[in-house]
Amino acid sequence: MRFLLAICFAAILAPLVAFWVWLQQRRILRSGRPLSNREAGLAAAVGMTDPTVLRVLVLETVPMPGPRWAHRFAQRLGFPALTAAGMSLGKGIYLDQKFEDRPVLLAHECVHSAQYERHGIFGFLCRYLYQCVRAGYANAAFEREAAGRSEAACRT
Ligand SMILES: [Zn+2]
Repeated sequence: MRFLLAICFAAILAPLVAFWVWLQQRRILRSGRPLSNREAGLAAAVGMTDPTVLRVLVLETVPMPGPRWAHRFAQRLGFPALTAAGMSLGKGIYLDQKFEDRPVLLAHECVHSAQYERHGIFGFLCRYLYQCVRAGYANAAFEREAAGRSEAACRT
């Protein structure tokens, strides 16, 4: 049952969220800052082939896609839906200003940017949404990869 729910959820939401991600990425690419040398080194260490394409936009609050009921639903799946400290939108990364100085957070988001790079926006979102519904946010394969790689890169 959870498998079918995951397939339906991913199929319905992925195109809508992909459009939102594309819009946010465009906004960040226009008004975000490039990575510092140190940050670019971290991005390369976690798998970004070309960290110079990334831009970071620091905001008071990281925006979330969809209406409030969707945020509550996402929270039930284990997403930190109303409290995101950062979010990767392909080549654009949002950071909450309260957490902007945490290298492990930026590294985590860079791993997601590398995942977008591997699969494209739509391909990433289909897989990511499916993983989150099937296994829960914390156990999603992309989240485990991001946590593992970012922590390893910041330890060295
Ligand atoms: Zn993540």
